Amino acid sequence: MDYAKVTRINLARLLKEGGTARASGVVEEAFWVGEERFPLEGEASWKVAVSSVGGNEYWLSGEVEGVVYMECRRCLKPTPTPVHAHFQHMLRYEQGLEGVVFHEEDEDEYYAFGEPDLDLLPFLTEAFVTEMPYTVLCEEGCKGLCPVCGADRNLVDCGHEAETPHPFQALKDLLPEL
Ligand SMILES: [Zn+2]
Ligand SMILES: [Zn+2]
Repeated sequence: MDYAKVTRINLARLLKEGGTARASGVVEEAFWVGEERFPLEGEASWKVAVSSVGGNEYWLSGEVEGVVYMECRRCLKPTPTPVHAHFQHMLRYEQGLEGVVFHEEDEDEYYAFGEPDLDLLPFLTEAFVTEMPYTVLCEEGCKGLCPVCGADRNLVDCGHEAETPHPFQALKDLLPEL
């Protein structure tokens, strides 16, 4: 099943004859943005279609779905978080161009590509990571880490007092410069 792990679509036939090209597959282990790793539970699956819309323009649409581990915002536990993202982009074929280049002219946005073998991973990554929530909780009512000793209060009762809000705390939040 190695072919399914290649996140590419070959558009040679589409470029010649028009119509629609389709591909599907999986991304294993993680998505990467620079040095930042977004670890997956199992595999993320994806599928795309690229359709000729006249001239040298093509419409890319697809979806990517998987479960990513995000840290619980209170206790930092890796928490499986389902993500299902859809994406659509205009593509423009420019023969001989190396790689994929993003163009933005007025309201017109498109990606130029010059090789029939198009790498989809950047599109899949952008769609997936953009769809992730900002923060997650491992469960409703996660008790978080103790601010005194750092213990996971879901697992142990370290005996430290839960913080009682200082009466002036609300005022302090209102006027952070004080
Ligand atoms: Zn938690
Ligand atoms: Zn404690």
